[in-house]
Amino acid sequence: MAAYDFIVVGAGSAGCAVAGRLAGESPAKVLLIEAGGSDRRLSVRVPLASPRQWGTALDWAYDTDPEQGLGNRRLTLHSGRMLGGTSAMNAMAWVKGSDLDYDGWRLPGWSWNDVAPVFARIEQGPMRIGRVPYPDELSDRFVAAARAAGVAADDDISGPVLDGAAITPATIHKGERWSAARGYLNHQKNLTVVTKAQVHRLIIRNGRVAGVEYRRRGRMHQAFADREVVVSAGALGTPKLLQLSGIGPADHLRSVGIAALVDSPRVGLGLTDHPHVWTTWSLAPGFVGLSDMTNPKWLLQWVLHRRGKLANSGVEALAHIRSTADLPACDFQLMVVPADATVDANSLKLQPRLSVGHSYWTPRSRGNVLIRSSDPDAPPAVRLNVLGERDDVDALIRAVEFSRAIMATEPMASAVERELLPGADADIDAHIRDTTITTFHPACSVAMGGEADSPLDDRLRVRGVDNLRVADASALPRIPRANTNAPSIMIGERCADFLLAR
Ligand SMILES: Cc1cc2nc3c(=O)[nH]c(=O)nc-3n(C[C@H](O)[C@H](O)[C@H](O)COP(=O)(O)OP(=O)(O)OC[C@H]3O[C@@H](n4cnc5c(N)ncnc54)[C@H](O)[C@@H]3O)c2cc1C
Repeated sequence: MAAYDFIVVGAGSAGCAVAGRLAGESPAKVLLIEAGGSDRRLSVRVPLASPRQWGTALDWAYDTDPEQGLGNRRLTLHSGRMLGGTSAMNAMAWVKGSDLDYDGWRLPGWSWNDVAPVFARIEQGPMRIGRVPYPDELSDRFVAAARAAGVAADDDISGPVLDGAAITPATIHKGERWSAARGYLNHQKNLTVVTKAQVHRLIIRNGRVAGVEYRRRGRMHQAFADREVVVSAGALGTPKLLQLSGIGPADHLRSVGIAALVDSPRVGLGLTDHPHVWTTWSLAPGFVGLSDMTNPKWLLQWVLHRRGKLANSGVEALAHIRSTADLPACDFQLMVVPADATVDANSLKLQPRLSVGHSYWTPRSRGNVLIRSSDPDAPPAVRLNVLGERDDVDALIRAVEFSRAIMATEPMASAVERELLPGADADIDAHIRDTTITTFHPACSVAMGGEADSPLDDRLRVRGVDNLRVADASALPRIPRANTNAPSIMIGERCADFLLAR
């Protein structure tokens, strides 16, 4: 039985920021508990290698229930289970979002003017933000074609003004991935990091969270926090852990045999992700894109010099667009991958292809994440309701038409042969229903808000119980027009600010 000042559950994007800053800027004793293990692996360090983590022990890989809007397909939601969490697995794009996102939350202390200095501090401090270092000629051509087709000629596309096309701003530094663990965990003396330790429940006594119970190497342990516990287990892991601990919709908790200590009906509700659809193209003769990425020369270049194709994220370029002119801000991120993103990335026989991803930033559909049983090892039921609203399908159709116009513009047009997916004569509507996935940005499942039934208040405190905060993507009140790593780290930084100020 060990005692600390603070306990942080989950060493992901947000949890590393909370724990690293608490330990770095105060004498407090901090315990950071992570279910996964070390991040010292090639598939983490080598930027292009991260899809090799999928389906391994480094991936929680929760499946959704059958999704009605997708013809009852199940989606697999990848997320990182190691030091760095999903920041050690993601595609490394660094986008903060629009000022409208943060202003729209209408929460004191969270307007764009409030969070902009926090993002600036992150960018100039712990995190290293560069550009995808060695983009393929195809990616440069896409950026030029997007601009020729009317997308703003702005290089700074990470927010708050998003419009533009550019080589991807990315958490890649000197040819290596820069995760939140690399940025924030610096062997601080007062920070204890315990890995391969899965928290099974929070210990709640007299309306106060006293500590956590976790399993490590087959044995149960307890740890206690004199001050606060922060749950940063991600948008699926955090509602799961709160519900296992008796914090959630009381009826549902009772139905799975858990005593409801805090009836908080919206813990697990409001889950949102960005729907995503790929289109693919074959390349004109002479272009290879990433089809030769398994050539040993690229590995050698990376090992010796941290250079070459493997030092890139696969998402080499982005275009942020408005699918209709009357929108107040961009509603889509187009992602360019100079390969076929729809085939198994570990396949050794990659064809010369280019893919355009269409990630919808302002979907209407909402879902939920609810535990199925009191067993901490049982995956929760995840329902995203992707394309549950017709408007979301219509928006994706507009975006596919927009990217087709870019692909038909020089200097892109002469670099591709033809559209393979969905194909010039195909029914786009059916393609969207058959192939839409998400961008792996689950969020908003334990949201902050000003209403009495919002799970969190505007200081990330869990309503109905003392000494407990949530800091991660689940706390987002509404999903921003952004890839969710930067917003999650920002939330972790804000949580540390609140705790350090006490
Ligand atoms: C394939 C992929 C590509 C992506 N690409 C991008 C991108 O290019 N740019 C971008 O901005 N975002 C991207 N994202 C999303 C982004 O990385 C995540 O939104 C962000 O990292 C979430 O941060 P978080 O702190 O909420 O959770 P996480 O970083 O997932 O951290 C949660 C941590 O908690 C741990 N944990 C969970 N349960 C427990 C428990 N019970 N006990 C102990 N530990 C526990 C987990 O193992 C994990 O380490 C991508 C995601 C994926 C999967």
